[in-house]
Amino acid sequence: MLQIPLSRSFCVFRARPLMAHSSMSSCSRSQEKARLRGVVFDMDGTLTVPVIDFAAMYKSVLGEEEYKAMRARSPSGIDILQHIETWSSEKQQKAYEIIADFERQGLDRLQIMPGAIELCGFLNSKKIRRGLITRNVKEAVDLFHLRFGMEFTPAISREFRPYKPDPAPLLHICSTWDVQPNEVIMIGDSLKDDVTCGRRAGAFTCLLDEKGSLKPRKRRLGISWQSPTKSCGTKF
Ligand SMILES: [Mg+2]
Repeated sequence: MLQIPLSRSFCVFRARPLMAHSSMSSCSRSQEKARLRGVVFDMDGTLTVPVIDFAAMYKSVLGEEEYKAMRARSPSGIDILQHIETWSSEKQQKAYEIIADFERQGLDRLQIMPGAIELCGFLNSKKIRRGLITRNVKEAVDLFHLRFGMEFTPAISREFRPYKPDPAPLLHICSTWDVQPNEVIMIGDSLKDDVTCGRRAGAFTCLLDEKGSLKPRKRRLGISWQSPTKSCGTKF
């Protein structure tokens, strides 16, 4: 049992049955007892301490009124990247510049999440692969690798389309590793991006609930729930 010294809450979601993309041979393999072969992490707010003020970023991109209207339409969160894809190229370019500016400011204050280095050391000792999927740009991933000396391979950034919550980046990693999605766990701090991506791919998922805003629903989700004031034990 690895004790991760985090004062945070985790929700672990079971893997769904494999999706239609699986071949016959992979189906029979999936019926064998699955073991954990890889862990795929989100970056911002999961491997790094959250530093980007997303509300301020969205307001700058959308304007105050449009931001309020979108919040009312989508209380679970705004998918800014998807939203601006429908804009004209000139307007889109401006939006990307604003987003890049916020992300650049975030890079200046980049901090590793407490416990992340220990967890990666543990995964190394068990020879469990580590991958990364982020909606941030490749430049940010390169800086993250450089600054903290941890390598995640593959590390998929915003340049890969379609991005999370589409399962494509996670399925790409599984295919690169030659493992089944139900042999992988996706860990992230976003229910709508990370957990959705993992579940759509058929992987196990783990939500890092930084604010402790989700209530545990043990029966349906098989949740491992810890008080925000206690350390969290994760069994591999
Ligand atoms: Mg995140």
